[in-house]
Amino acid sequence: KNRGRGRCVEFDQGMDVRAQEHARLAADLSAAVERNELALVYQPIVTLPHGELAGVEALVRWTHPVRGFVSPAEFIPVAERTGLIVQLGAWVLYEACTQGAAWLKELGPAAPGRISVNVSARQLIEPDFPTVVEAALLASGLPAERLTVEITETAVFDGGPALAAVTAMRELGVKVALDDFGTGHSSLGLLRTCPIDVLKVDKSFVDGVGQSPEQEAIITSLSQIGTSMRLLVVAEGVETAAQAERLHEIGYRYAQGYHFARPLKPADIADYATATAGV
Ligand code: C2E
Ligand code: MG
Ligand code: MG
Ligand code: MG
Repeated sequence: KNRGRGRCVEFDQGMDVRAQEHARLAADLSAAVERNELALVYQPIVTLPHGELAGVEALVRWTHPVRGFVSPAEFIPVAERTGLIVQLGAWVLYEACTQGAAWLKELGPAAPGRISVNVSARQLIEPDFPTVVEAALLASGLPAERLTVEITETAVFDGGPALAAVTAMRELGVKVALDDFGTGHSSLGLLRTCPIDVLKVDKSFVDGVGQSPEQEAIITSLSQIGTSMRLLVVAEGVETAAQAERLHEIGYRYAQGYHFARPLKPADIADYATATAGV
């Protein structure tokens, strides 16, 4: 009994430490925007087989004054739980649109055709989300058709407000991408009900390329479904030349992944754009 209680106390302390940790991270994060600790990097989305720049995905980075680099996989969930994602997400949208407009000025026709921005479920269902997007476009001067919002299946699964926001995006002329496609609970069902423009096939399926006929059957079908629905289909997380080649054979026209480029600073995107222009 004593040991049991002891264990219980240990467990409670563990929970406490974790809760404190989260609270501290949340507090630091809320100051991070003003302190200029957040920055965006951009990962090329390219055409197959040659890797020409088709667009970029904006990915947020946080350099904490003490901890150094904190992964978005760690702090985005914290921001979602506290609601801070609404404010942080608005900053990301504005920043990405501003960068997109700057590239357009600087690079002209070599500029990334599209800027993709990740949007959390929590952000999407805010009543003023479409207004925030419109304001970012207006303030930056980025044409609406050059912006894509990436949402996940779980975000639109519940229907209602999320679906309304998706419709509002398309009315603005903003494209909508379904991110990490295939990992949710009703991926195919969603294709029937949610009007989207881009399908991003999750890395877990791309990892199966060249592994077995069964795995290749899945990744092939995903491309066929998307293409026959006139969606743009992007293979995520392409890490090797062999994967890129096979994806192209299977029918993929767009890819993203370390094989082509890691997430880059804006200046390096300009270099990538000019280096691959017209290959
Ligand atoms: P995501 O939107 O699916 O973004 C793709 C993630 O895969 C990125 O991780 C990217 O760096 C990584 N990646 C790209 N190519 C490869 C590859 O070939 N191999 C491997 N192993 N990984 C690859 P990152 O930047 O750490 O972001 C993780 C997730 O955090 C994103 O997944 C997205 O869900 C979320 N996130 C990032 N930035 C934002 C943001 O501004 N707002 C919101 N709401 N979420 C964000
Ligand atoms: Mg994404
Ligand atoms: Mg993804
Ligand atoms: Mg992902």
